Amino acid sequence: MAAVTEREPIRLYREDRRLTIRRDSWGFGLGLVGTVALYGAYGWIAREAVAGAITLGQMTMYLLLFRQGQSAVSASLSAIGGMYEDNLYLSTLYDYLETPVQRIQGGCTMGPDPADGVRFEDVAFTYPGADRPALEHVTLHLKPGTSLALVGENGSGKTTLIKLLTRLYDPTQGRILLDGLDLREWDEGTLRARVGVIFQDFARYQMLVGENIGAGDEPAFEEEGRWREAAAKGRAGDFIETLPSGYRTQLGKWFKDGRELSGGQWQKIALARAFMRDVPLLILDEPTAALDAYAENAVFERFAALTRGRTTVFVTHRLSSVQMAQNILVLKEGRLVEAGTHPELIQRGGEYAAMFRLQAERYGSNPTPGN
Ligand code: ADP
Repeated sequence: MAAVTEREPIRLYREDRRLTIRRDSWGFGLGLVGTVALYGAYGWIAREAVAGAITLGQMTMYLLLFRQGQSAVSASLSAIGGMYEDNLYLSTLYDYLETPVQRIQGGCTMGPDPADGVRFEDVAFTYPGADRPALEHVTLHLKPGTSLALVGENGSGKTTLIKLLTRLYDPTQGRILLDGLDLREWDEGTLRARVGVIFQDFARYQMLVGENIGAGDEPAFEEEGRWREAAAKGRAGDFIETLPSGYRTQLGKWFKDGRELSGGQWQKIALARAFMRDVPLLILDEPTAALDAYAENAVFERFAALTRGRTTVFVTHRLSSVQMAQNILVLKEGRLVEAGTHPELIQRGGEYAAMFRLQAERYGSNPTPGN
C-alpha cells in the first residue's frame, strides 16, 4: 500500500489547526453577540422598571421569559448543528452506497480444461485514479495441486496480483484463465466457492472465538465440531482451550466480558478460518506476519502438509518459509522479474538470491529457523 509521506502529518496538523481556529473564531464572535444582546436586554428591562414604565412583577417575568427564550434558542441551534454533522456522515455513507458496482456477467460453472489450473496472460492492472500501473506484463502458469510463493518488496504488486486472481478487480489488460476459461466468464458463486483467501488485514469480528473461525464457511458458522477441526489445522486449538470459555469465549471490548487476543493469536484464528472450507485454491496473503519466525515456519510446514494436492498461493517476507513452495515468483515494481524453484533462483544469483543472502546475514548462517 502507499506509504504515508513525512509531510502528511504536518499537512494534517495544519488543516486541523486551520479548522479549529475558524470554528472557535466563529464561536467566539457569535457568543459575544449573544452576551451583548442578553445584557443589553437586562439593562433595558432594568431601566424601564426604574423609570416606572413596568412594574417589579413585570420585570421579573420579562427576565424569566428572556432567560427561557435564550436557552430554547441555543438548544434548537445545537440540535440543527448536530443534524448538520450527522448529515455529513450520512452523505459519505450514501456516496459509498451509490458507488457503481460492476455487474458480473459470466455464468459458467466449469472450464474446458480442468487440468490447466491458473494462467495469467500478459496481465496489467491500474487502480482507478492511479497514474501508473500496479502490475504489468505478468504472465504465469500455476498447475493444479502446486504451491506458489510471491516474493517482492512492499508495493511490488503481490496483493494486487491476489486481488486479480480472486476477481476482486478485473485486469485492465490481458486475461486470467482458470481451467482454460477467462475469470470474467465464470459464475461468481462457483468462483467464490473454489477460492479461499486470507488477507493480512483479515476481519476481526466481535463474536465468539468459534464463530470467528466459523465465518470461513457461512453454512457451518455455528458448528462447533467444524470449528475444532479447523482450529487444529490452523494451530489455534491449544490457546483456545486455555481461554475461560474455550470456543465460546466472547471476543472484543464491545462486550462486558469480551477478551482481546494478541496479534499472533488472531492470525491463528484467521488461519483456522481458512481451513473451514475445503477449497481447491487456497491463498494466504501475509496472515502470518505477527507470528515469530519459528511459529510461522511451523504454520507453513503444516499448511504444506494439509494442502497437499490443492493449489496454494502465499505471500510472506520470510524467505525461510518461501523455500517450501514449488514455484517462486519475484515481483519488482509491478513486473515479474524472476521465477523458479528456490535452488534455481539461488543459482541464478539475481534479486531472490540477494534477498536471501541479506536475510541470512541478518538472521544467521541459514534463514531457516530450526534447520
Ligand atoms: P504489495 O502487496 O507487494 O506490498 P500492493 O499490491 O499492495 O503491493 O501495491 C502495489 C502498488 O499499487 C503500490 O504502488 C500501491 O501504492 C498501489 N496500490 C495498492 N492498493 C491501491 C489502491 N487501492 N488504490 C491505488 N493504488 C493502490
